[in-house]
Amino acid sequence: MAQAPDRVRALLRMLQGAGTPGGVRKSLERELGRETVDALIASKLLVRGARATRYPCPRGGSHCPREVVPNVGDTERPFVAVPPSGELCCDPLPLTEAALATWTFSYRAFAATLSRLFAIRGEANVRDEVFPATFALGRCAHGGIERDAFLMLDLNGSAPVSFLRARQAQGLPTVAFAHARSRFVSPEIDAHFRTGAVVVVFLEDELEMGFEGVRRRADATLVLADHVVAPAAFCAVVDARGKRTIDEAEYRRIVASAHEYDLFLDTTTTVDAGRYACGRREGDAFVRSAVTAYQGLPTRS
Ligand SMILES: [Zn+2]
Repeated sequence: MAQAPDRVRALLRMLQGAGTPGGVRKSLERELGRETVDALIASKLLVRGARATRYPCPRGGSHCPREVVPNVGDTERPFVAVPPSGELCCDPLPLTEAALATWTFSYRAFAATLSRLFAIRGEANVRDEVFPATFALGRCAHGGIERDAFLMLDLNGSAPVSFLRARQAQGLPTVAFAHARSRFVSPEIDAHFRTGAVVVVFLEDELEMGFEGVRRRADATLVLADHVVAPAAFCAVVDARGKRTIDEAEYRRIVASAHEYDLFLDTTTTVDAGRYACGRREGDAFVRSAVTAYQGLPTRS
């Protein structure tokens, strides 16, 4: 029987990429094992969907997808999965209503589980990607700093490395929870994103499958604080919400998203010859500039 870390690895493998794991119990059990399917249903990580119209071949024949039709006269097993006509692989299979229930993995429930296990706060968004197969989970504290927490379900290839490097270059504190390592995952991930502003945490190192669902491994090493101890006030910001003090992470986030504002002026640092970086929206474009302390915002001449 598969050990707990291997069982969670099988789940993470299914989560990798764009597809949503799901199907009838029979197919899920084939991939994940019966105990894992039970645990995922019990913890609502698998949610019940519509009745299946197809059923896998009981002998695992890939050329034997079965159409489900009513099994007239049998109240206990009211459906029957019939093999395609012609090449007969196996006999028609009478089925109960329960056997035909489909189950779909709930990313929303998974995000909620990760938030609980890793002390992530704020609203998760598992509908809109911030990068292909990457979702915002909220914010959490790790290594003494507040970070944006992401769920990254496709670390294969070089594009995700570029995404992480870009965040590093912008000084955006990040913790990315990733699927299991695969041979397509760049070794650079483990080499460069273990510590620092951008940290990648492989969920296979942190999670195991219990009877009640996914839980932290006893030997998990990641330490996440549920809050940052006294975040140092870095500067003040005045925006639509009024004036407030913010920490450095928040400051960097605002600077990185300056183009989203109608008007922007950063007096904490100078850019050239003592000028302050500023910018403003002109039509659809965000025009960047710099002003001295005695100037207002530049006008077009
Ligand atoms: Zn068959």
